[in-house]
Amino acid sequence: MINLCFHGIGTAPYGVPAEEAAYWIDADTFHRVLDLVGERSDVQLSFDDGNASDVEVALPELTARGRTADFFVIAGRLGNPGSLSADDVRGLHGAGMSVGSHGMHHRVWRRLSPAEQYEELVVARRRLEEVLGQPVRMAACPLGRYDRATLTALRRLRYDLVYTSDRALARPGTWRQARFSVRAHDTADDVRAWLRHGDRYAARLADSARTFVKGLR
Ligand SMILES: [Zn+2]
Repeated sequence: MINLCFHGIGTAPYGVPAEEAAYWIDADTFHRVLDLVGERSDVQLSFDDGNASDVEVALPELTARGRTADFFVIAGRLGNPGSLSADDVRGLHGAGMSVGSHGMHHRVWRRLSPAEQYEELVVARRRLEEVLGQPVRMAACPLGRYDRATLTALRRLRYDLVYTSDRALARPGTWRQARFSVRAHDTADDVRAWLRHGDRYAARLADSARTFVKGLR
């Protein structure tokens, strides 16, 4: 299976950091990608960063197409201008979407101090759980980066699924899953190539993934 990850849709609002703006795509590209995906059950969709476009653009399209997706919200931005509100997050969930944590401050989950790790993995999740009134069991690593200590902590904290951005195919049911992020310069044709030939990316990454997993033991 293949996981596609989206961020903002439309024009990035003024003030969005450059490293995030590089992942905003226009609505036309978004529609084309959804057309490509169609009803394929081996393609899973997710949305990172909790931008307002999640409810303004993505949700109506997904609903119209009868698809569900996973939304990874930055707890520290809830209610900020341009970001989802608590009501928006409940609305996503009420519409059949899944909600996971993208941490508190959108900082890289590498070399976190104990206090930072607690804030990112425990406090952020708790804040989302208070909004939803139910457990949050999924996380997506901000900016796709993580290290062994963070993965160990996510396991200890009993997260059920952790998404990365490692651009490889994923195996259903595995605890850590790679995703292909659609970036500002990607076209629907690029995504078509991933959907057709995603295994080529996987072959290249499999060795490093194995090495990495060995390092975890
Ligand atoms: Zn992010």
